[in-house]
Amino acid sequence: MAATAALPATAAAKRHRRQRRVDVCIVGAGLAGLTAARNIVRSGRDVVVLEARNRVGGRIQNKTIAPGVITEVGAEYVGPTQDRMVALAKAVGVDTFPTYNQGSNVLILDGQRSLYPATPGVSDNPQFLEAIATIPVLDQMAAEVPVAAPWKAPRADEWDNQTLAQFRDQQIPSAGGRQVFDVASRAIWGTEAAQLSLLYALFYIASAGNPHTPGSLSRLISTPNGAQAVRFVGGSQLVPINLAKRLGARVVLDAPVRRIERSGKTVTVIADGNEVSAQRVIVAVPPKVALDIDYAPALPRAKSRLLRRIVPGTERKWAAIYQRPFWRERGAERPGRRRRRAGPQHLRQHPAPGHARDHVRLRRRRRLGGGQGPKPYRPPRRADREPRGVLRRRVPQHDRVHREPVGGGAVDQGLPGRAHRAQRARHARAAAAQARRHHPLRRY
Ligand SMILES: Cc1cc2nc3c(=O)[nH]c(=O)nc-3n(C[C@H](O)[C@H](O)[C@H](O)COP(=O)(O)OP(=O)(O)OC[C@H]3O[C@@H](n4cnc5c(N)ncnc54)[C@H](O)[C@@H]3O)c2cc1C
Repeated sequence: MAATAALPATAAAKRHRRQRRVDVCIVGAGLAGLTAARNIVRSGRDVVVLEARNRVGGRIQNKTIAPGVITEVGAEYVGPTQDRMVALAKAVGVDTFPTYNQGSNVLILDGQRSLYPATPGVSDNPQFLEAIATIPVLDQMAAEVPVAAPWKAPRADEWDNQTLAQFRDQQIPSAGGRQVFDVASRAIWGTEAAQLSLLYALFYIASAGNPHTPGSLSRLISTPNGAQAVRFVGGSQLVPINLAKRLGARVVLDAPVRRIERSGKTVTVIADGNEVSAQRVIVAVPPKVALDIDYAPALPRAKSRLLRRIVPGTERKWAAIYQRPFWRERGAERPGRRRRRAGPQHLRQHPAPGHARDHVRLRRRRRLGGGQGPKPYRPPRRADREPRGVLRRRVPQHDRVHREPVGGGAVDQGLPGRAHRAQRARHARAAAAQARRHHPLRRY
């Protein structure tokens, strides 16, 4: 692999790498890697976390937009049933606050603009109602999908052999209703409903629950009592930053892992400037990015095939900074908070940044090649409506991920079920079974 070619292989190069010996080496200082490290330290073992970038947090990142004011360009919200995340934040001294959710949401459908109250967040537009009528149907189906082994759902084959779009088309008669459905599904999965296996979508919905509360699509898309209910004081990246502070020198930055070698009971993890010998390795990086590491011996074929087929979603998130929150001052329409419309840009959210100012519109959207929606709604031009600044973060695409092994999409998508469906389902099951047998903790 290209990574191997870049690896200094000589004895001299080896001498220049800092050598360490620990019980467990973790690749990646995102939330997953840092949480694993915290648990391992608590169990009394030595650990080292090798992180490619010069910061921790991975897909969780604060950006400063003015002195003392931040916004988040990666993960931002949590809600009920994300109990472990909330508990972890509390344990590392990060408080939460309710997401701003007053005023109205804006719906732009077929060129028509209408408002509906942000709470409960349900428009009386008939096409909107058609779309949300699918929620109880999907929730009921998701209740049959075991989160730990979705392939064991009684109708796993049937559902894995159809796409979410096929389900949508069976359930929603009008084109407008389907557009509303697509706005929600693109925001959640960062892809088209036609590219998602229905089984995967149901598994994802089921995963939005906890042992006491079943998962629900409405929880995934809602602010009140939903996945967008709460934010972190000081920004979400404070959680990984505080976790890393507690781990101290065990977290090594600027150390992209290039190669993982297993020999007998020892695994050697080779990163730029570092070489770690361990009994176990945990690779806590997005599936696609894990393939950029050179493994010796090579990963089992089924495992690498599975990793290749898990496609990251594509989303773009950017913040426009205004003098003041003019959209909240519009008497006629009441302060706007969220607008949904069909077309290339699908969902805009307008929360206040981290913990302070009101004048940021945060936009999260999925870009689609040929999406033809109605003309975007444009408010009348006014000086204070011109953004003072724009922060962008593009979630890396595949090619970029391969050049810089540090990215990954917002969410990983399940295997699509359109072409060679049965074959793909068989491969997925075989790969999952093999992945379980060859889980890193067992393998090394
Ligand atoms: C725009 C966006 C919005 C999101 N919003 C939310 C939200 O509101 N709520 C929510 O719950 N979730 C949200 N998510 C999802 C959430 O961010 C991720 O699920 C979570 O951060 C994943 O953490 P992780 O540790 O598994 O992976 P990552 O955060 O990707 O961490 C992996 C780490 O590994 C490092 N790495 C990669 N390759 C190597 C290598 N070869 N060597 C060493 N290090 C390496 C990377 O630099 C990175 O730091 C969002 C994601 C995005 C992108």
